[in-house]
Amino acid sequence: MVQRLLQPGEIEALDHNAIPRLLLPQPATLFSARAKRLRQLAAGEVPGIPVEDALRGYLSLMAHVADAQHAAVAALGREGVALPDDASLKLAHDHNMPPLPATGARPAAWRTVFARLVEALAAAGNAPPQLAAAVATLRAMPEAELEGIADAILGNFDEGADPLRAPFVAAALQASWSLMAAQLDAAWAQPLMTGTLCPVCGSHPVASVVRIGGQSQGYRYLHCSVCESEWHMVRVKCSCCEANGKIAYQGLVGQDADPVGENIAAAKEGRTVHKANDPDKVARAETCDDCGTYRKIFNQEHDYDVDPLADDLGSMLLDVLVSEAGYARASGNPLLWLKENA
Ligand SMILES: [Zn+2]
Ligand SMILES: [Zn+2]
Repeated sequence: MVQRLLQPGEIEALDHNAIPRLLLPQPATLFSARAKRLRQLAAGEVPGIPVEDALRGYLSLMAHVADAQHAAVAALGREGVALPDDASLKLAHDHNMPPLPATGARPAAWRTVFARLVEALAAAGNAPPQLAAAVATLRAMPEAELEGIADAILGNFDEGADPLRAPFVAAALQASWSLMAAQLDAAWAQPLMTGTLCPVCGSHPVASVVRIGGQSQGYRYLHCSVCESEWHMVRVKCSCCEANGKIAYQGLVGQDADPVGENIAAAKEGRTVHKANDPDKVARAETCDDCGTYRKIFNQEHDYDVDPLADDLGSMLLDVLVSEAGYARASGNPLLWLKENA
């Protein structure tokens, strides 16, 4: 009998202890769940993330944007934005490049997604008054201007990303890229030279998240700001410079130690501190004294419904706290664009 040799992917599949290194998005449910989470945050219903009054209106507005993303994705269906052809996917794979690069030529179908999104926003019930004004501006926008804002968002230039329109354009790009990523065979996405960029589209993560459930239990993932994929990165490691020597955590209730180290210290003293559903552990900033940046980490072990992008928007108090301590934010949130020097 000839024994068939296993391919690397099959070996991985046989190892039930293997860490799933890439979690591709599920756009059919992702945006509706995010809309719900944004509304909970806006209503002050998330114990670990207290939201100041000034932010509530913006979170409600972004909940409408997430609704519109859901509507656009649902209307266009699973294959609403086609994948690049196999030759392009293979070329990217062979050169260790992301298969769905966010920079470079965009599939024209993304503008259809944008149009659907704007129409869904126009039809939104109970919409705040500023939404109607935004819809009018978005409808009147010439194609060249729309593409210019998209270039600025995906290329990470602050210049050109008009803060009033960029969140809506970014929302359409996210919906488009997540539709593509959801159709992708994960084997096309190779780990990149750097673990800090999305292996699917090459973008920066918006935040990181500790997942629960199945083989992802307790592992930390970085959540892509554009295609909504999540990729594995070990805990207690800087998601900006990949150093691990000077990492610390700051919660919304002040300085907070790494739970692992905290548990070791507690065990020596005969106490247990790592209890589940601890609101203080839902949202924290992971700071790095090697590069002086921070990125937030949300923990599903302490709140099942965490959404890295929504929770990042909702926890702006944490940004204030950590930037006052002298750390710079590693990368932005696509649904929030602040004017330089504002
Ligand atoms: Zn991505
Ligand atoms: Zn660092």
